Amino acid sequence: MEKKVAIVTGASRGIGRSIAYLLAKKGIKVIANYNQSEEKARELKEELEKENINIDIIKADVSKREEAKRLVQFAINSYEKIDILINNAGIAEYKLFTEETDEDWNRVINNNLYSAFVMCQEVSKNMIQNKNGCIINISSIWGMVGASLEVIYSVSKAGIDGLTKALAKELGPSNIRVNSIAPGTIDTDMNKGLTKQELKILEEVTPLGKIGKPEDIAKCVNWLVEDEFTTGQVISLNGGWVIT
Ligand code: NAD
Repeated sequence: MEKKVAIVTGASRGIGRSIAYLLAKKGIKVIANYNQSEEKARELKEELEKENINIDIIKADVSKREEAKRLVQFAINSYEKIDILINNAGIAEYKLFTEETDEDWNRVINNNLYSAFVMCQEVSKNMIQNKNGCIINISSIWGMVGASLEVIYSVSKAGIDGLTKALAKELGPSNIRVNSIAPGTIDTDMNKGLTKQELKILEEVTPLGKIGKPEDIAKCVNWLVEDEFTTGQVISLNGGWVIT
């Protein structure tokens, strides 16, 4: 059977790395995007090569139209199609709302939301032609319930969920499924600012008594890639911390 082709953005570390790793192990041709960490992206490639699995690592700042376009064009030139897009790239921000600047707004919205918009747009042209596609946007529980000191981040992630729902309706007739995964706290560099005590409190208030691992998100991606009837949904993996 012909190999599926997947683009994973922000794949050099954390959740994106775990998703790229699992999809590659599953036999999917993975194009792992990174922005700055070439060394880490190379490490991922080399780790998979030890298992005779070859992935492409492509540098691109997906918050810029031209770079996102180049990433997508690489996939089409190399493999003629894109079956799966995982919009994972994102940045965090912690600041008092009254101290946020226009630069903060532009930085967070561009990296978290505009990047997903641009990538969906560039990729969906090819998916519509092929009448096949699976798009998974990584949002956050904060997009669902809002977070103090993370107002712009929450807006960006709520925007991603809006994008997911609207696109699911528009692209469904072309057999393209669009879903969001909204993680709770996951053990990655994004949370390295949290103290041991803060992490302990988080675990205590979470019904399952633990914070998540990047692999927890990758497993859900794996399921959504296989599934054929789920679209327009926001699936929150958070150990029961937030139940809406
Ligand atoms: P991370 O900081 O380890 O990884 C994010 C990656 O995205 C980094 O490698 C970064 O370089 C990349 N990136 C950011 N902007 C980019 C751009 N413009 N172009 C290309 N790459 C870019 O964090 P993570 O925890 O692995 O986060 C992955 C996703 O999951 C993010 O969208 C984040 O908002 C979301 N998320 C994380 C948590 C958590 O608790 N860790 C919770 C909810 C949602």
